[in-house]
Amino acid sequence: MAGEAQADCLFCKIVSGDVPATIVRETATTVAFRDINPQAPTHVLVIPRAHYPDAATMAAADPGLAADLLREAGVVASEDKVDGTGYRVVFNTGTGAGQTVFHTHAHVLGGRGLEWPPG
Ligand code: AMP
Ligand code: ZN
Repeated sequence: MAGEAQADCLFCKIVSGDVPATIVRETATTVAFRDINPQAPTHVLVIPRAHYPDAATMAAADPGLAADLLREAGVVASEDKVDGTGYRVVFNTGTGAGQTVFHTHAHVLGGRGLEWPPG
């Protein structure tokens, strides 16, 4: 069923607590934790508790959850005090774009200059 936890999914295991993570925020529908391989001083992943393979699938199935995720990305940026200097919210979607974990996650990146276009 849509959104159900997947036994072989790393981020479902972080949601359930079976895999540890440095959690910075939790809501009824989302979990935010520090990326294990940070690419910027602030690099937090915001994920839905429910399993969807990517952002577009989540948004199509549950628009309110997509809104929760984006709102939480903003709160994380504000709490890490990168909202003033600017930050980036990224959803890598598909292997060609660098997606390696197929459980929706927003990267929140900030605390350094971020070039555009991205590499
Ligand atoms: P992506 O490549 O867009 O699918 O992003 C997956 C992200 O998950 C990468 O930035 C990884 O560094 C990060 N990651 C992988 N395993 C863990 C983990 N156990 N805890 C925190 N972040 C992780
Ligand atoms: Zn999952």
